[in-house]
Amino acid sequence: MNDKATTEANGPNGETKMEFQAEVSRLLDIVAHSLYSDREIFLRELISNASDACDRLRYAALTDPALTEGDSDFRIEIAADTDAKTLTISDNGIGMNRDDLIENLGTIARSGTAAFVDQVAGDADSGVSLIGQFGVGFYASFMVADSVSVVTQRAGETDAWRWTSDGKGSFTVDAAERDGRGTTITLHLREDATEFLEPERLRGIIKTYSDHISIPIKLAASADGEAPDTVNEASALWTRPRNDIDEKQYTEFYHHVAHAMDDPWMTLHFRVEGVIEYTGLLFIPTSRPFDIFHPDRKSMVKLYVKRVFITDDCPDLLPAWLRFLRGVIDTEDLDLNVSRELLQKNPVLAKIRSGLTKRVLTALEKKAEKEPEEFAAFWENFGAVLKEGLYEDFEHREQLLKTTRFRSTHGEGLVSLAEYVGRMKDGQDAIFYISGDDLDTISRSPQLEGFRDRDVEVLLLTDPVDEFWIPSVGVYETKPFKSVTRGGADLSAIKKKDADNDDEDKPAEPKGMGNLIALLKETLGDAVKDVRSSDRLTSSAVCLVADDSDIDMNLERLLKQHKQLNETAVRILEINPDHALIQDLAARAQEDGAGERLADAAHLLLDQARVLEGEPVPDPAAFARRLDAVIATGLKVSGSES
Ligand code: ADP
Repeated sequence: MNDKATTEANGPNGETKMEFQAEVSRLLDIVAHSLYSDREIFLRELISNASDACDRLRYAALTDPALTEGDSDFRIEIAADTDAKTLTISDNGIGMNRDDLIENLGTIARSGTAAFVDQVAGDADSGVSLIGQFGVGFYASFMVADSVSVVTQRAGETDAWRWTSDGKGSFTVDAAERDGRGTTITLHLREDATEFLEPERLRGIIKTYSDHISIPIKLAASADGEAPDTVNEASALWTRPRNDIDEKQYTEFYHHVAHAMDDPWMTLHFRVEGVIEYTGLLFIPTSRPFDIFHPDRKSMVKLYVKRVFITDDCPDLLPAWLRFLRGVIDTEDLDLNVSRELLQKNPVLAKIRSGLTKRVLTALEKKAEKEPEEFAAFWENFGAVLKEGLYEDFEHREQLLKTTRFRSTHGEGLVSLAEYVGRMKDGQDAIFYISGDDLDTISRSPQLEGFRDRDVEVLLLTDPVDEFWIPSVGVYETKPFKSVTRGGADLSAIKKKDADNDDEDKPAEPKGMGNLIALLKETLGDAVKDVRSSDRLTSSAVCLVADDSDIDMNLERLLKQHKQLNETAVRILEINPDHALIQDLAARAQEDGAGERLADAAHLLLDQARVLEGEPVPDPAAFARRLDAVIATGLKVSGSES
């Protein structure tokens, strides 16, 4: 990815002309061509940025009061010029210097948006429909403007800068004049966007989308000399009583703090009083952000102290496995001058973190119990993130286990461990699971046949994180977790579905089975750890399993994919004594010279088991040669019969 705006050149008036980062150009292309019905949201995006800029300066001024000297009343001003057809949004926030401008308005800072743009680029249709899910921020201006100029001065600096662009591949930057710090954005409205010059229209948009902004938003009066009036409520939403806030206001606030466009899946608004006091307004998104599994992904909940924004980068505020949460925590109990360094290992923060974690988990647990279908949607998005807590966070393990849900061989829906244990069969002593990359493949695994035959439920695990928490958790209510692809799954104590009486007469092992096993072991040598008769197979002839003391097969695959493991552990080959082919081979294994005649069959059985496992056949040429021979023999036999 080209992560910089590049190619400096001097424009006709001596300004510097630069090209947008490729992703920005693509994004602008989507934005400009989208027949986006809600294009009024451009204003929300610009107000949101202005408010963030004021928040950031207020924080910076805590340690350097000179930054706001002479102008400490933060405000956002909006003015329309009907003659010039321009709309101006001004703030007296932190502003930008030249480098900031190039970095912020020439590239896409947020990796989630960049990934989104990469994904939808080239497919205008899906881009348009998906764009609604993402805040495109500043670039949304180009939904309504032919050209945009930004004049800005960073607080504490003396130079001002102008950025201009028509949104078509490049922008310019040059020196400008500005009356003090802050940012002024001027939109030259498109012919079809002049509705955004009407005061009533603007007032309506601000009320709808930006009422929750805690800084006053002033709309300049039309020409007649009146003072601009404040349109929004201008008090922090989270400080207002819950009864005074409607769902729409919560949603708009969520859009602002989360830079998201979806609706919150869950909203938690609460005030905690006692030794430590804080207010929280937390959201769980409805859709999964693209970068939720990105290694740099951190909690994005904003920390405020006494209504002053401190940081949105505070890893100690919430555990990483709750990183899907968005919103605000505002506390009275930290010092306003608390530095980001002091926030580390801070005892007040540790208490808040623990309180928040319990509160969120309790809300999730309740939802999972009471509204399982809604919960399933959350689980699809964030279940894999939450499961990280199972091995990272001993303190919350019990509660997390209650909230964890699974797919299983018992139907489509999700099951809890309690439900699973509740329907365990007589004689079943473990919670069985199988893990792999995708649901379809693992649910067709031959290793499941014997379990299906006995109606024993098996959990189907497809998240990489499952390989890590299962061994570290080990048991649930005294029942151990056991992989069906590993070790001797002793199913003999569990009745088969169609067995009509308890003392099911298991037919004696077919004749020659001992010979066949001995022959296979000898022929396959080091390629297998053992060969044994299986009770986990019903229709397949063979399967591979890992020895109890060896690494699980799926974990091995995962580690290899991530280049953390080179060698493959040698597997146990299990054969199905009830399968016609195995019985036939067993009969032949008793004959003289069987070792030589059945050698090809032995290798083919092992290769077949590998293929079923989705593993490569180590010697494809030998495999093909043996298969040819077998087919040729088969044809000869059927030819001679006709
Ligand atoms: P986002 O706000 O989601 O990060 P934007 O594209 O809207 O993305 O803005 C990019 C960056 O430009 C912001 O993160 C911020 O640093 C800077 N920026 C935008 N508007 C302003 C403003 N009014 N004042 C100061 N900085 C701003």
